[in-house]
Amino acid sequence: MGVDGVGYVMEYHDQLGLSRERFADLAEQFHDDSYAGREYRRLPDYRKAVEKGTVLVAGTVVRGFPKIPRCLVLDEGIPQHFDREIAVEEKLNGYNVRVARIEGDVLAFTRSGIVCPFTTHKVRTLLPVDRFFEQHPDRMLCGEMIGPENPYTTADCYDVDSIAFRAFDIRERVSGESLPVEDRRAACADLGIPQVDLFGIYTPSEAVESTPETIDDLDERDREGIVMKTIDGGQQLKYTTSAANQGDLAFAFGLPFDYGRDFSFRRLIREGFQSVEFADTEAERRARAHGVGESLLVPMTEAIEAVDGGERLGERHTVRADPRVVDALLEHLREQGLTLDIEQDRRVEGQRVLTFSKRIQKSTDKIDSYLGGTIVNE
Ligand code: ATP
Ligand code: MG
Repeated sequence: MGVDGVGYVMEYHDQLGLSRERFADLAEQFHDDSYAGREYRRLPDYRKAVEKGTVLVAGTVVRGFPKIPRCLVLDEGIPQHFDREIAVEEKLNGYNVRVARIEGDVLAFTRSGIVCPFTTHKVRTLLPVDRFFEQHPDRMLCGEMIGPENPYTTADCYDVDSIAFRAFDIRERVSGESLPVEDRRAACADLGIPQVDLFGIYTPSEAVESTPETIDDLDERDREGIVMKTIDGGQQLKYTTSAANQGDLAFAFGLPFDYGRDFSFRRLIREGFQSVEFADTEAERRARAHGVGESLLVPMTEAIEAVDGGERLGERHTVRADPRVVDALLEHLREQGLTLDIEQDRRVEGQRVLTFSKRIQKSTDKIDSYLGGTIVNE
């Protein structure tokens, strides 16, 4: 069990700030897992009391990264949500990782609290983890893994050849409390840890003025959006570009029966509100409509043609790492129940460069059956 500042042993429920009874109810929701012989428990979904991705390991808590609410309209959304100064930072499109040190081992936890062997290896080689944990023994480093060569996301709009880490938070490992934005930025700069861009620190009304231009600029560069946060990191709010909304739609419609209708509907609605708030001209609105239409139909027709040609649909990823790290990743993904098709397997300067596809069954099967003439009652 964890030890508090004066040496008392703290049980999990104390660390989580829950009564023994509430923790007992919650405990059933945790999944058992292990990494390199170390057992841990993780909370895979959102629960009222505790963040998704919260982990219990070796007597200590690794608090989940909180869900960030979104506004559809900046003009009213920002002043509604914030009554103090906020930092506006770039929202990067990759995958969330928390880096924590547990009994001397530096581990990388993904959003739902899984220790990823590939990401763990990458953060150990990319970041000055020993110096970080010397200075912040009870904290965790939170950031986004970006770049084209990773096993989870596909955005390729960054100036990154393979994979890179960008810090956006330093939190207490147990409580999840953030280091204030300026302190976090100074700490990362000091340690040479790369971080997300900061656009500025603004009052809410200044942010209402400046954010539309920031969004336009990000949109032109195909970037995802912004995260606004109070200086103490306690409250956050996100807003995304049209490029991100349409990119997500294109992704979803390339696998049309696997990504939920809610997923697509929400992104369509975001485009509607943005078109109005950003006062699209007639021509701009038509261009946006065209973009939305293309992001639905082009990937969907490509998927139908692919299945018609006998292909299986999947999510394609490329990773580059030591051969043993790639082996560990493949084993890890298969343990999660994924079926992988290996598409290319090369050695480049001692590294294994592997392209694989995570098989997506439902869309493949449904398209196949519709192509075969299956009738629908609609
Ligand atoms: P979840 O909120 O559960 O992570 P989601 O897909 O809804 O899932 P996103 O829409 O990607 O999440 O937005 C939240 C995520 O944005 C954070 O979890 C984090 O990984 C990422 N992110 C990227 N840049 C930043 C940043 N500057 N500050 C905070 N989070 C950021
Ligand atoms: Mg994301």
